[in-house]
Formats: sequence, C-alpha cells, structure tokens
Amino acid sequence: MPGAMTAAATNPLIDDRDVELILDEVLDLGRLLELPYFAEHDRETCDMLIASARDLARDQLFPAYRALDAEPPRLVDGRVLVHPRMRTLYARLTELGLVAAPRPHAVGGAQLPLAVFSLATAYLMAGNLSAYGYLGLTQGAAHLLEAFGDDTLRAAYMAPLYRGEWTGTMALTEPQAGSSLADIATTAEPTGDGHHLVRGAKIFISGGDHDLTDNVVHMTLARIRGAPAGMKGVSLFCVPKRRLEGGALVDNDVAVTGLIHKIGWRGLPSLALAYGERGDCRGWLVGEPHQGIRYMFQMMNEARIMVGLNAVATASVAYHEAVAYARVRTQGRPLTARDPAAPPIAIAGHPDVRRMLLRQKAIVEGGLVLIARVSRYADLAGHATDPAERERAGLLLDILTPVAKSFPAERGFEANALAVQVHGGYGYSSEYLPEAWLRDQKLNSIHEGTTGIQALDLLGRRAVARGGAGLAALAAEIAAACTRARAAGVDASWIAALERAVGVIGVLTAELAGRGLAGSAEAMVLHATDYLDLFSTVVIAWQWLELAAIAREALAGSLPRGRASRDAGYYRAKLAAAQYWIRTELPRIDHLAALCRDGEDSYAGLDPDWL
Ligand SMILES: Cc1cc2nc3c(=O)[nH]c(=O)nc-3n(C[C@H](O)[C@H](O)[C@H](O)COP(=O)(O)OP(=O)(O)OC[C@H]3O[C@@H](n4cnc5c(N)ncnc54)[C@H](O)[C@@H]3O)c2cc1C
Repeated sequence: MPGAMTAAATNPLIDDRDVELILDEVLDLGRLLELPYFAEHDRETCDMLIASARDLARDQLFPAYRALDAEPPRLVDGRVLVHPRMRTLYARLTELGLVAAPRPHAVGGAQLPLAVFSLATAYLMAGNLSAYGYLGLTQGAAHLLEAFGDDTLRAAYMAPLYRGEWTGTMALTEPQAGSSLADIATTAEPTGDGHHLVRGAKIFISGGDHDLTDNVVHMTLARIRGAPAGMKGVSLFCVPKRRLEGGALVDNDVAVTGLIHKIGWRGLPSLALAYGERGDCRGWLVGEPHQGIRYMFQMMNEARIMVGLNAVATASVAYHEAVAYARVRTQGRPLTARDPAAPPIAIAGHPDVRRMLLRQKAIVEGGLVLIARVSRYADLAGHATDPAERERAGLLLDILTPVAKSFPAERGFEANALAVQVHGGYGYSSEYLPEAWLRDQKLNSIHEGTTGIQALDLLGRRAVARGGAGLAALAAEIAAACTRARAAGVDASWIAALERAVGVIGVLTAELAGRGLAGSAEAMVLHATDYLDLFSTVVIAWQWLELAAIAREALAGSLPRGRASRDAGYYRAKLAAAQYWIRTELPRIDHLAALCRDGEDSYAGLDPDWL
C-alpha cells in the first residue's frame, strides 16, 4: 500500500494565496478597517491573527485529527471523557483569544471583522473540525447571553464563556422536535426565586458534557408552564451543568443519558441529556418569555455562515490531499502514447482526474470567497457608519445566508466524494483520510437547518421579503462584478451568461411569488430545493466571474490593490475554474427553472404508501 504517498504531512489545509487574494481583492479590507468599530486593527494585526491560527492548525490540530477520529469520547459513570490530546488542543485554541474576537471590547472582545475571523477559523476547521467545534459552540452560547441576557447572567455565565474557561452548547433538539422547533416539550416551571425548574430531554447536544472545563452552559429552549402552543410559546433559558451558589459551583441536575455514536466529527461528543430528573435543574430566563425562537433566529445568520465555513474547510483539506496524491500516484499512460515500455504517468496527467480536481477547486474556492464576502456583509450590516450601507448589507446577508450554508454543505460533500474517487481504492480505505472528511462533511447539510429547510427559507421568505429588495441588492452587486470583469477583459460570453442568469432568477422568483400570493403556497415551493440549487449555482458563478476578473487584472499587471506575490499558473488555474463553472454548471439553471416553473409533480403526486 503506498502509505508514504499520503500528503497529510504537507497539506496546507487552505491555500494561503487564496486567503491573501480574498483580503486584498475581494474584501476591500482597507475600507472595512476604516470603520470606527474596527479602528484598532490594521492589515498587519489581521495577518498576524490569521498566521497564528494557521500555525496552530498545521502544527497541532491537523496532526491530532486521526487520533480524535479513531478514539471518540467515552461515557464512563455518567461522565464524558474526551481524547487526552484534546486537553492541550483546547488550551492552545483558547490562547488564540478567538472565542470573543469579533465581539465588542465591552464584553472582552477584540472587535475583529468577522470576515477576518472567518478566514482565520477556516484553517482551524480544516485542521480539525471537532477540536474547533468546542470553540464555535461556546461563542454561539456566549453571544446569545450577550445579546439577550441581563447583567447578572452576563457576569455569571457569559464572561467565563468568552474567556474560554467554560464551554457552551445550543440545546434545541428533542427526540420529537428536530426541524420543527414548534414541538419542543421541555418545560420550565417558575419558582418565584428568579429561576425556573427545568424538566425534559434533549438529544444530539454537541459539546453537552466533557472533561475539558469545570462547567458547560446549555442555552436551552423550553416552554414556560401555560405558554401558548407552537413557536410563540418557546423561551430561552441559561441552564448550566453546574450552577453558581455562594461563589461555588454545584451540580445542576443535568444528566448525560446517552452518547451518540456519530459517523463524523468524532472528536466532539454529541449527547442525549435529561434535565431535572431529581427535580433540581435550575434555568434562568434569557430575555423575555416566549421569545426563544426569535432570539435564536437573530443569531442564525452567523451560525449558518459558520456551518458553511465548516463545509468549505472540510472540502478544502480533502481537495489539497487529492491534488497532492494525483501528482505522485502513477498509473497508466497518455492516450496518445500507449507504449507499455514507457513509464506510467501521474494520474493528474489524465484529463478525467483533472476534471475531478477542477470541480473540487471550483466548489472549495467559490465557497470560500462567498463565505468571506457574506461575513463582510455581516460586518457592514452591524458596523457601517452609513445607515443606507448598513441596510443594503443586511439585505445581502439575509438573502445569501441559505446559500452560504447549504452550497458548501451539499456541493462540499460532492467535492469530498471526489477526493475519495481521486484516491481510487486507497480512498475507500481508512488508512487514508479522505473517507473521514467525507463522514465529517455529511453533518453540514443536516444541522443548523437541513438543506430542505434552507430551500424553503430562501424561496418562501428571504427572496420575496420586502418586495424582493434583497434580490435587487444582489443583482446590483453582480452587475458591479460584471462591470469589473468587462473592464478586465474577461470573456464576454461568460459575462453575458451571468447577466442572463440573474434575469432568470428575477423572472422565476416573481412568477413563483405570484403563485404564493394567489394562495397556492405549495405550488410556489414544490421545487424549492431546485430553486436553491439554481440560485446557488448563479451565486457561485458570480464569485468565479469576479475571480476571473482579478486573474485577468493580475496577468495584465494591473491589479488595483494586489501584492502580486502569486505566479501566473495560479491565475491561469483561476481562469480555468471560472470557465468550468460558467460553461458546465451555469447552463443547468434553465433545466432547474423549468422544473420550478412547470411544477413537475412526480413526488408531489406520490403516495408514500406506494413506495
Ligand atoms: C452530529 C449532530 C450534532 C448535532 N448537534 C446539535 C446541537 O448541538 N444542538 C441541537 O440542538 N441540535 C443538534 N443536532 C440536531 C440537528 O440540528 C437536527 O438533527 C436537525 O435539526 C434535524 O432534525 P432531525 O434530526 O430531528 O430530523 P427531522 O427534522 O426529522 O428531518 C428528517 C428529514 O425530513 C426533512 N424535513 C423535516 N421537516 C421538513 C419540512 N417541514 N419540510 C421539508 N422537509 C422536512 C428534513 O429536511 C430531513 O431531511 C445535531 C445533530 C447531529 C446529527
């Protein structure tokens, strides 16, 4: 077995040149850093943070990946014990100060642009998704307390989370309530002592227990006794594993009742939890009663972008592994030189292998640029000084979030499968890593709202909200990219194809919205996943057209801001991937639009009993 051929030791995880290019040419970082909120940062501090994350990812997280995958956490006497290496990794991760990095100074944060934070964390996720997971969950929990908790809760529970002393969870899912959070049954009984008594069962709670820190804080959805049925009766509670009493931490009656035996993300435990089996589980209401779902929704855009980034990172590490393997694995001879005496060539010499590599590249890099761009919109929506710019960025963030979450998850899975395929039979063995990343990747289309839910959210709500204002803002952004591409001398037919595609989305959305307005909501969203696929294909074509423009500018020596530290081959590959996406993927949109428009009803008319 050619074990030495694995490129693991040298895998870059994420291409440094891409990160630099995104900072220089896509994000317009200089302008972003001029905003008062980001005033203490400059390009150098951003580069330093990214470099620290990169070094940690390459030197410590990635080398521990296989061990964490092979030996998942264990449940021993009701306690979850994680892999011993996780202790050092967790300490190193918290030292980076990333948990609170994008948050305001007032809560101990560094006011770092989310766009920079995303690029830094991409390395950590690509190096070891599970290890990073503890931090991502903690950030989400602390952010909820920051946004909606009162001063007492913030001091008691948010502060240690942001410092990384404790970790946090999002405890939403119950056995009977997954996609449908309206059916949450965990109860909270008011006591008159400032807290509620919580009872119920949660499942799949990631990071729900471990032996890394003294405490775990569960941001828990529950129903206050007498609350209305459905979403409008769900409240948010802070339920620590151990509560603070007289300055000490005491057990808060949250028991681990089971460990999920996961196929991926195996370094991070996901658990079944029971609250209040002894009648002594205290929860503190966060914000107002019955607003839990609304609060979660307000945090959702950033959480979904982070899931999209998980997916990009997981596809990226596998792509780099596949490229390295394809360069050294020899097999067969070129079609034009079949001389059996000639030495075999590297498989990258076969056009079909290059097809697989280029497809992975298009998905990975198109996804990374999209996530960075959407993170920038989040920065502008929160911190631009011009109200009009804040509003426009907010619209773009809103309409692009389902794409940023689901495109990398769905197509990333395909990219991960291609990485296995490039490795041939070796890829199908656990001696090589691509199969592990394929397992990791699958989760990203399931958690934080499945792809089906993202599709309904995009078409049923976001694309048609405020008279299509988000769509109009998106069309303007793409038009600007087309203008840049035209000036840079990008192939005119690529630009025309993208312009036409934007028109297709506009007409189709109006038509489908018309069905909804006419009272036929089911007909409107019957092909919502095809609509999401169409929409995503166009959005990624936009990323590639802009990358093609940048490549043309670079090759002509006229990059507006670039540092010109990349070679010509780097840009030629960008042009090849842009051509690939625009010529082979973009034409699919007419078929997808026809499915949405014609209401093809193979499954709509299907009785499940027939199956
Ligand atoms: C490894 C792992 C970690 C997780 N971590 C957490 C965590 O930390 N905290 C937490 O709260 N949860 C967590 N989850 C739970 C996760 O969020 C849920 O699994 C997810 O929301 C889907 O719910 P479900 O599994 O009950 O599937 P279901 O809701 O039963 O969905 C099954 C299928 O039906 C489809 N479907 C369901 N409803 C609809 C609908 N209305 N329209 C169209 N299609 C529909 C879905 O798209 C899906 O394909 C985790 C899950 C896993 C597997």
